[in-house]
Amino acid sequence: MDLELTGEEREIRDWVRTFVRREIMPMEPEVLARERRGERGLRPDELTSLQRKAKDAGFFGIQTPEAYGGMALGAVMTALIEMELGRSFVQFRFGGDADNILYVANDEQRATYLVPTINGERKSCFAITEPGAGSDARAIRTTARRDGDEWVIRGEKTFITGGDEADFVMVFAVTDREKGADGGVTCFLVDRERGWQSRPIDTMGEWGPASLVFDDVRVPHSSILGEEGNGFELAMRWIGKGRYLLPARALGACERLVEMGMDHARTRVTFSKPIAERQAIQWMIADSAVEIEALRWLVLSAAWQVDRGLDSRQAQSMAKLYGGIKANEIVDRVLQMHGGMGYTRELPIERWYRELRLLRIYEGTDEIQRRTIARNLLRGHASVRGHLG
Ligand SMILES: Cc1cc2nc3c(=O)[nH]c(=O)nc-3n(C[C@H](O)[C@H](O)[C@H](O)COP(=O)(O)OP(=O)(O)OC[C@H]3O[C@@H](n4cnc5c(N)ncnc54)[C@H](O)[C@@H]3O)c2cc1C
Repeated sequence: MDLELTGEEREIRDWVRTFVRREIMPMEPEVLARERRGERGLRPDELTSLQRKAKDAGFFGIQTPEAYGGMALGAVMTALIEMELGRSFVQFRFGGDADNILYVANDEQRATYLVPTINGERKSCFAITEPGAGSDARAIRTTARRDGDEWVIRGEKTFITGGDEADFVMVFAVTDREKGADGGVTCFLVDRERGWQSRPIDTMGEWGPASLVFDDVRVPHSSILGEEGNGFELAMRWIGKGRYLLPARALGACERLVEMGMDHARTRVTFSKPIAERQAIQWMIADSAVEIEALRWLVLSAAWQVDRGLDSRQAQSMAKLYGGIKANEIVDRVLQMHGGMGYTRELPIERWYRELRLLRIYEGTDEIQRRTIARNLLRGHASVRGHLG
């Protein structure tokens, strides 16, 4: 067992670390000020310019296959990169990515959707959730009815990330009511020009998802992604693409928050002593550091299993669940350590506080992760001894 990074992993990680420190962190005061005014933190042109800078240095398409100009990096390396990016609240991501399920597209769809998405010319969104179907995604009611060589899509989707900006949607609809999620759901690629409507949803985060309405939107049969009836399987593949990545990013935020907390504790004097000398504060720091370390290994173990081609679903659910809970506890402690200042909008802590809350909800709530973990154990698909057996 080797818990060291390879030379290459260290080199790539360090490059990203420097990029974050030199290019992204200097933008934080301006991004924060804009968000306070209700504006978008990082403007699209700034994101593009940062992505171009990174691309010039060879950073493009972190997990995208080399055939499409990407770096084809593995899961462990991607997790290490996310941890570095998470250290800043500026919403930066490297360019050159496309949704994993777009790779099942046929040649024509690849040219129309996959390649332009990788190149940043088109934006996608993924729409399965509905007002009546979130955790229970099998209960979706949006329908697609066959009419000659066309399909007619009718229904409503909600909480769709990027739904108000997307050029096209990967929408999941019931095409065979009897089969439902077991072979009766199909994914369609639908351009905005076909007539679906979007409306942003205001959330406690700085940016919001959207609701989408399909009012008899007509699409040709050739809009089906993959095969008719295999949509639910595709949706699960999309959701399961990288549950380890969300907690990896949160972990970076937790590291930075605890560092902020320690800086504050060393200098904030009460009753003639820095608060860092009080056991109550030291325990907050100690507990946070232990939890960050535990989360690091949960995330890396899940990513390692992905790279080995093992069944990583249990490990990924554990990393997502633990990351969501612990990140929220840690940001709360760090806010507490800052006293009244922690509650103000002068510091970014309250912003992280709101942002990290989402981790316990999307891509499977805490309760759904627990359900998955317990079921895997009870049915014998996983062991409490973990992947070592
Ligand atoms: C900001 C944001 C972005 C999102 N982006 C997307 C996106 O891009 N595309 C997309 O399709 N969806 C997206 N979602 C939807 C997200 O995946 C759902 O909100 C999530 O799965 C929970 O579903 P729900 O909101 O309907 O809650 P519900 O399913 O109604 O759950 C309500 C509560 O009940 C609990 N619960 C539900 N079932 C059980 C059970 N069996 N046992 C115990 N407890 C249970 C839940 O854990 C939760 O606490 C996004 C959501 C948000 C908030």
